[in-house]
Amino acid sequence: MLAISHLGSSVVFRPSLQKLRAASAVNDALQPLASQENLKRLALLALFAVPFNLIHILVFWTKVPANPEEVLWRQGIMLSHAVLALLFTSFGLLARRLRHGRPPSWAIGMLTRLAIGAVLAFAVAIACIDQWVTPNITPLLLGCTLAGLAFLMRPGEAAAFYAATLAAFEAGMQFSQPDPQLRLSNQVNGLSACGLGMLLSVILWQGFARIQRQQEELAEKHRQLEYLAGHDALTGLLNRREFDRLIRAELARAERSLQPLSLLMVDLDHFKQVNDRHGHPVGDKVIRQTADLLLRHTRAGDSVARFGGEEFILLLPDTDATEAAKHAENLRRLLETTPVPLDHGEVRLTASFGLTSLPARHSASYEALYATADRALYLAKANGRNCVKALVPESIAQVRKRG
Ligand code: GH3
Ligand code: MG
Ligand code: MG
Repeated sequence: MLAISHLGSSVVFRPSLQKLRAASAVNDALQPLASQENLKRLALLALFAVPFNLIHILVFWTKVPANPEEVLWRQGIMLSHAVLALLFTSFGLLARRLRHGRPPSWAIGMLTRLAIGAVLAFAVAIACIDQWVTPNITPLLLGCTLAGLAFLMRPGEAAAFYAATLAAFEAGMQFSQPDPQLRLSNQVNGLSACGLGMLLSVILWQGFARIQRQQEELAEKHRQLEYLAGHDALTGLLNRREFDRLIRAELARAERSLQPLSLLMVDLDHFKQVNDRHGHPVGDKVIRQTADLLLRHTRAGDSVARFGGEEFILLLPDTDATEAAKHAENLRRLLETTPVPLDHGEVRLTASFGLTSLPARHSASYEALYATADRALYLAKANGRNCVKALVPESIAQVRKRG
């Protein structure tokens, strides 16, 4: 019997322990963001709290006490608000300072905890001082609500704060409220006030966690969309849109740095026949393998894009016509000697290359370079395919060295 109940409890216990660990890890990850948010809120709260404390002091200052108990009560309340005003002035200034620097997370945590502790401690103190003239405990209710609403607290931390507040309040009532019925009523109401603060705190923390999770998902979707907007779905290469953006930036850089630049267009030969003979899935495989090969044999800094169906374009910065022609010839040979393996047999490939190069200390528009590379490709096709043809761009201008 004992063994069974032990087994049963361990079965229930283990997954819940895992859940607790997972929740704790999530809360750990949220803590830095929550701390930053708490700093902002503390700076804002100080702006409201200090005038609020000063108004209280002013109101009690002008009130003429009717009896000796009221004198004590008045002094106690004024002193509490004066200390709270002083504390929140310091907290507010510190929060502003920390927000503009790069404070260690423990410093933010410490400041936030001090502020929460101050709100709750003064709520207890004022509720107890109030017992000299009134049995209500509104300050405790307000303090618990304010701490729960204003600060983001991890549920464990919130539980510790509210348990300590309740314990201090229960102890304070023993000394401040002599009437046993009123004391009991206040103690029960104190429990409700702390429970309400705890509940608010947990709800707000969960809401904060949910919003952060949604923002994280949104940011991930945004990253994916950004990637898809600039990349080709079949090959993962840059797409034409992204390549257009890139080459304009590279042309401006080449002009500034007085370096050469080459543009190479690649078009698979008789690719339509591959589709017709083997079907489109094989055609896709051929396009993917070509993309991989071009990418693998491209230097860091060079860019490869899929321009259209079986057409690719390469941007070779800091590469002159001789170097680019060597590179193109190497790629041509590699494509020719790397067949695409199929389940039964293989597909042999060739491609035609159209090359154009912008010499060092020259500038040209992208449109002019593109038109020249396209004409060179047309020449390669007309010349029997499986070859590299290069043309010098027509409308290029010399760039004078500045300075
Ligand atoms: P050439 O040697 O003159 O370049 O002839 P070609 O057959 O390679 O060129 P053509 O322009 O006549 O045909 C290109 C073919 O590429 C036609 C089109 O169906 C195919 N194609 C375009 N995009 C894709 C794709 O994403 N996947 C597959 N499998 N085929 C595609
Ligand atoms: Mg084509
Ligand atoms: Mg083709």
